[in-house]
Amino acid sequence: MNRNTNFDQLPDRYLFKEIAVRAAAYTQLHPEHHLLRMGVGDVSLPLPGAIIDAMHQAVDELAHAETFRGYSPEEGYEWLRQAVIDHEYTPRGIDLDIEEVFISEGAGSDLGNLSELFLDHNTVAILDPSYPAYIDSSIMAGREVISLPCTIENGFIPELPKQKVDIIYLCLPNNPTGTVLKRAELQRWVDYAIANKSIIIFDAAYEAYISEEDIPHSIYELEGAKQVAIEVRSFSKSAGFTAVRCGYTVVPKQTGLQAMWLRRQCTKFNGTSYVAQRAAQATFTPEGKQGIEVNLAYYKQTAQMIADGLRALGYEVYGGKNAPYIWWRVPQGYDSWSFFDHLLNNCQIVCTPGIGFGDAGHGFVRFSAFSNRKDVEEALKRMKTLA
Ligand code: PLP
Repeated sequence: MNRNTNFDQLPDRYLFKEIAVRAAAYTQLHPEHHLLRMGVGDVSLPLPGAIIDAMHQAVDELAHAETFRGYSPEEGYEWLRQAVIDHEYTPRGIDLDIEEVFISEGAGSDLGNLSELFLDHNTVAILDPSYPAYIDSSIMAGREVISLPCTIENGFIPELPKQKVDIIYLCLPNNPTGTVLKRAELQRWVDYAIANKSIIIFDAAYEAYISEEDIPHSIYELEGAKQVAIEVRSFSKSAGFTAVRCGYTVVPKQTGLQAMWLRRQCTKFNGTSYVAQRAAQATFTPEGKQGIEVNLAYYKQTAQMIADGLRALGYEVYGGKNAPYIWWRVPQGYDSWSFFDHLLNNCQIVCTPGIGFGDAGHGFVRFSAFSNRKDVEEALKRMKTLA
């Protein structure tokens, strides 16, 4: 057996594990302190009633012989794929064939698994900082990675790669910086991909948080994108499905990859749970939509509170407007882990160190709008005394 030694190139510990280890060590030493978890990427509000009702009904169907279901089709049930097209794409003038929509158990696994469609010697361009799945799965495959820094200097808007790259991961709105690209800016990436025969893997997990005009919600709003882009979406952050597990990936036939992805899924994926798919379908009903809007409004308000609160304390913060994340430039004299420790030890606040998202995250920490509102208020109070 020759094990995959590419794994040796991965950072020692997965970011969130390291955070958990440090927070647990602090709690063990100071059990009397309540930690305020301001960095979490996980949602905190319960699911809307309409979605819970749909899940109950789906469970009941499984309890009776006449309505029992076994495996779902690998690509997902047609009623959900059609609902995705009707509610997410048709209203934006995007025409998709149902065979191009694949229901998943969330974006995370598809973002990793899509990598199997490409030979290992492809070069990959990844925004720095970025959600770790793109770089980790590229390293696991032994690919050459070209980093595209997103810094204060360039307004967190990456420059196009100077050389030809084969695969480009774009996450917009961005986790962790909260950056979005305007229509014309994103069109440049699509044009680059067409000119260089590259593929864009477009992670739109935070699309529901876009609040400004002229920001595309889907890459397929751009001219020519269906030739060169795969779009990965999730119900996790839009509808609170981090535990339920459901998302979808669009692989247009024009990319030449749709049949390959179907083949891959049929071999290695036995479909998303029936209950999760019925829950996802309920997000498109009027009651489901209303419930989701209430939760999204709450998170958006929390994001605004954090950003305003930190600015009022004199800190330099970015994001929070079209994304649930606030990207905080740490005060001089700190790096992202030492500031993490500083906040933990002096305010009992747990944040996410920016360095965990790439080298360009070195002088930043990430705060999240998914944090408990009372904890946010308390955290802002505690930080008033921060030296
Ligand atoms: N993409 C981004 C940018 C994320 O931040 C996350 C989760 O935090 C995911 C994908 C994965 O989401 P899912 O729960 O759908 O696997």
